[in-house]
Amino acid sequence: MEYLKEKGRIFDIQRFSVHDGPGIRTIVFLKGCMLRCRWCCNPESQEFAVQSMVQGGRTKIMGRDVTVREVVSEVAKDRIYYRRSGGGMTLSGGECFYQPHFATALLCAAKAAGINTAVESTSCVPYKTIEEALPCIDNYLMDIKHMNSSKHKEFTGVANELILENARRLSKDAANLIIRVPVIPGFNDTAEEITAIAEFTAGLGTVRELHLLPYHRLGKDKYKGLGRDYPMGDAQLHTKDTIEELKRFAEKTGLEVIIGG
Ligand code: SF4
Repeated sequence: MEYLKEKGRIFDIQRFSVHDGPGIRTIVFLKGCMLRCRWCCNPESQEFAVQSMVQGGRTKIMGRDVTVREVVSEVAKDRIYYRRSGGGMTLSGGECFYQPHFATALLCAAKAAGINTAVESTSCVPYKTIEEALPCIDNYLMDIKHMNSSKHKEFTGVANELILENARRLSKDAANLIIRVPVIPGFNDTAEEITAIAEFTAGLGTVRELHLLPYHRLGKDKYKGLGRDYPMGDAQLHTKDTIEELKRFAEKTGLEVIIGG
């Protein structure tokens, strides 16, 4: 099988995740992203280039080239947990479709090995790229960050038209599409904006779940380790009450709204 020889670049594989799709999952983090979200908690994912990052006083090399065969054999080690929990492999990043051939080959090799698949994707790529991978994706977790294109561009570096158009097309074509919203202070943490995203999501017609992902600062030290300033400055975390209130606004659209997930 040719696609087992396909090569790509990853920076981590994490086992036993319960937040990135159904059941217990192994997350494969691919290098490279076309966005530059200010709140990104994986800044080492953004550049495709292999980088050095200082963490805990040690210099780590972020990025290594692997074949699909190597990744799938690593992921398959936890097959017993997937079977019991309904879990599987999730591609994350970065943006997995930044490396479209590698991502598609990985997803199809996992499917061929009987492993459930998921992607976490911003989907800011031509739809044709996504369409080729869709037959091998069991769960599609898609971020929608803001409905206003200029605000989206100001905070992520790219406009949102392609993302929203892809969401409309995915709502017809993707299996189990879930929309996720990183809730970011000073960006989209208002009742108006969360309502607008929830209304868009409900209007897609086939999406039942909306996940609100509260802002956190867990990636802050990584910026320092990469020699970068933290773009969010001293932005504060939301209180539980604020997030609960935003959840209630989103629920008015009839969606099932989950905090985290
Ligand atoms: S899309 Fe995700 S990986 Fe890319 S910059 Fe934004 S938060 Fe980071």
